[in-house]
Amino acid sequence: MGSRPPGSPQILRDRRRPTQRQQGLLLRSRRLAAGAQTSRQVSCREKSVFVNLLFPHPLCLFIRHYKLSVLLMCFFVPMFVPWYFWGESLWVSYFIPALLRYALVLNASWLVNSAAHMWGNRPYDKNINPRENRFVTFSAIGEGFHNYHHTFPYDYATSEYGCKLNLTTCFIDFMCFLGLAKDRKRVSREVVLSRLQRTGDGSHRSG
Ligand SMILES: [Zn+2]
Repeated sequence: MGSRPPGSPQILRDRRRPTQRQQGLLLRSRRLAAGAQTSRQVSCREKSVFVNLLFPHPLCLFIRHYKLSVLLMCFFVPMFVPWYFWGESLWVSYFIPALLRYALVLNASWLVNSAAHMWGNRPYDKNINPRENRFVTFSAIGEGFHNYHHTFPYDYATSEYGCKLNLTTCFIDFMCFLGLAKDRKRVSREVVLSRLQRTGDGSHRSG
C-alpha cells in the first residue's frame, strides 16, 4: 500500500488474473490491432498488457525472442548447410539459398492476396473476387484454394480437400496429433454441395 511509485506498471502485477482495467486495455489493443490504425497509435503500456496477457506461460515468452530464430532459421542455416556440407562459397550460400529463397517465398505468399484474387475458377461463389489458383496453391503450400477459403472462412483447412496440396493443413493436423491444437472446424459435405449448386460457377470437380 503506497509503496508503489506513481506511474509504475501496476497492471502487470498478476499475469494470471487480469483485472477489469487490464481486460479493457486488452480489448482496446485487440481492436486497434485488428483495425486499420497503425501500431504507433497503440501505447507502449497497452502493448505490454497485450503481450503479457496473451503469453503468460514461460514457454510462450520465448516467442518474444522470435527475431533471433528468424535470423537463425531463415538466413544462418540456409547459408551454413551448403557451405559446410558441400563446400559452396559463403557468398553464393548467402545470396542464393538465403536471400533469393527468402524473396521467392515472400512473393509466393503475397500472391495469395493478388493473383489468387484475379485469376482462377470460382466453383464455390462466383460473386466474389477470390479464386482457386493452382499456381498459388503450389507456391504458397495450400493457400491457393482461395474461393473456398473466402466462401467458408471458418474452415481451418482452407480447402475442401483437406491435406491434398495443403501443407499448412497437414501442419495443423500434426499439432492436433501432438495435443497442441484442438477443435478444428470444418464445413460439412452437404453444405459445400448446396453452396456449389447455389452460387458456384460450374467449374467444380469433386476429389
Ligand atoms: Zn483473400
